[in-house]
Amino acid sequence: EPVFIEIEDDRVELKAAGALWGKNVKETTNLLKDKGSVACIGRAGEKLVSLGSIMSDTVHTFGRGGVGAVMGSKNLKAIVVKGTGSVEIFDRAEFIKQKKAINRLLIASPTINKGLAVFGTPFLVKITSWMKILPVANFREAEPEPDFDLKPFFAKTIAKDYSPRKKACYSCPIACKREDKKGKELPEYETIGLMSANIQNPDYEAVVEANRLCNDYGLDTISVAGTLGCYAEIRNKGISAAELINLTRMIGEKEGFGERLG
Ligand code: SF4
Repeated sequence: EPVFIEIEDDRVELKAAGALWGKNVKETTNLLKDKGSVACIGRAGEKLVSLGSIMSDTVHTFGRGGVGAVMGSKNLKAIVVKGTGSVEIFDRAEFIKQKKAINRLLIASPTINKGLAVFGTPFLVKITSWMKILPVANFREAEPEPDFDLKPFFAKTIAKDYSPRKKACYSCPIACKREDKKGKELPEYETIGLMSANIQNPDYEAVVEANRLCNDYGLDTISVAGTLGCYAEIRNKGISAAELINLTRMIGEKEGFGERLG
């Protein structure tokens, strides 16, 4: 029988998750979030897809290694945690001193304060393409073909087209995560890099949708995109925008050719 683990301070309980089984990450998280922070799997992990991830509060990913399938193999849908205690600081004066020193270094770093904090990780797309270390054609090339337009994937284009809002992991002053005006998560550098030139897909909007599907099915975007890059090389043909979306969904559902890819 499917279960989830509920933890509140020292209380740990296994609870029935039959009503959650078959649901994807957003729906599962919405149903459990009143009980605490939620780490769960989607349909991919349930179906033991080897690219399955565990999603924490919908967008934070335990990605590589198929850990979602490990949870699925144990019929474990989610772990929900709530704590009411606090963390003691051993030496508060020293803690504040070190915090100030770290913040000073963050502010002094142009990579952080002019890149990550302003544009999020997508600012790396232009830099890595300029350095010729962006993954291209399943890592076989150092730069895209001249007719492949990378500009739609550059952070400034995304900023202009989407007016992204900042999101952060708990208490992080950098806040490198981004979502669109409607709250849809926008992809990070690794996902953009691997789902664009690496598979020869020219459409940023398709990457946004494939990223959303991966997060909801509980699939690791890097593993999915790496697999699609390999598939594109084997068949000697890039992955179109429509294929990217469709194959991602098929991997999550373990459906048809998606089962072999997954
Ligand atoms: S901790 Fe901060 S910099 Fe790191 S991923 Fe989270 S928001 Fe980005």
